Amino acid sequence: TLDFAGRIAQRLGAKLRDEVVHAVDGVDLTIRKGEVVGLVGESGCGKSTLGRMVAGIMPPSDGTILWRGRDLRSLNAAEARNAKLRTQMIFQDPYASLNPRLKVQEIVGEAPLFHGMARRNEIEIYVDEQLRRAGLDPALKRRYPHQFSGGQRQRIGIARALAVQPEFLVCDEAVAALDVSIQAQILNLFMKLRRELDLTYLFISHDLGVVEHLSDRVVIMYLGRVVEEAPAEEVFRHPNHPYTKALLAEVPRIEARKRAFAGVKGEIPSPLNPPSGCHFHPRCPFAFDRCRIERPALKQIAPGHRSACHLNDAA
Ligand code: SF4
Repeated sequence: TLDFAGRIAQRLGAKLRDEVVHAVDGVDLTIRKGEVVGLVGESGCGKSTLGRMVAGIMPPSDGTILWRGRDLRSLNAAEARNAKLRTQMIFQDPYASLNPRLKVQEIVGEAPLFHGMARRNEIEIYVDEQLRRAGLDPALKRRYPHQFSGGQRQRIGIARALAVQPEFLVCDEAVAALDVSIQAQILNLFMKLRRELDLTYLFISHDLGVVEHLSDRVVIMYLGRVVEEAPAEEVFRHPNHPYTKALLAEVPRIEARKRAFAGVKGEIPSPLNPPSGCHFHPRCPFAFDRCRIERPALKQIAPGHRSACHLNDAA
């Protein structure tokens, strides 16, 4: 019950043109120190918005983000800067966030120099250490981002994040753009860093297969709401929510489930005009009258396992 990264209650919104879209709606998420939480859902489900809020990049329009039990908005300037440094985001496309005119050593060394984590006369050694940690040869540090492959660029992004000594990494589709073999290497790197540096992760992905071996706990989101949350093993062995089951059917290795469920049918509806009741009802093979009218509450169905489906009331 250690509040480490964030707790968001009530309604959070993102403003789009003149309409308020509830990209994240009534989510209450606690991430404990040292934990890896996998946040999964299709694109457009609000998981990236939630990740940005938890990372302190995007303030919620409503609700609270707690950092070590304290509201981010109540921190003084120095505390807020510290919280921001300790939380780093890793994005899908590191190239977009790497300045093409800077050499790798400048990209990785810029922030620690600015924040006084390394002195100018020791910055080379400091940068080398971060590159080595991220699995890159320090001899390459005088090269520019375009001289690296996609996987190597992701490692540069990771080295840059490590350089400010983070405690919490929010990884948003961090391996989605990479080949499967490179994906595995980067996922292994994240796990190595977790052991070495005692890191905490929020790992955001559209693919349950990606978070399977990584996560202690998995949170499934659909159209801005959490629909299921459980220890990772429980989600994979005993999924409860029809949406989770459909997502599992799309993980190629899980053959038995693939036969039982046919994957998620149709497109995710627009958050501008979400379906009434259970947002998933137009795509759910088990939907019944109540689903169209009443929003299902996220209820405990087993220790540490919560699901938002009216079928659980009927059971
Ligand atoms: Fe399907 Fe109804 Fe459960 Fe929603 S509440 S997942 S529509 S059965």
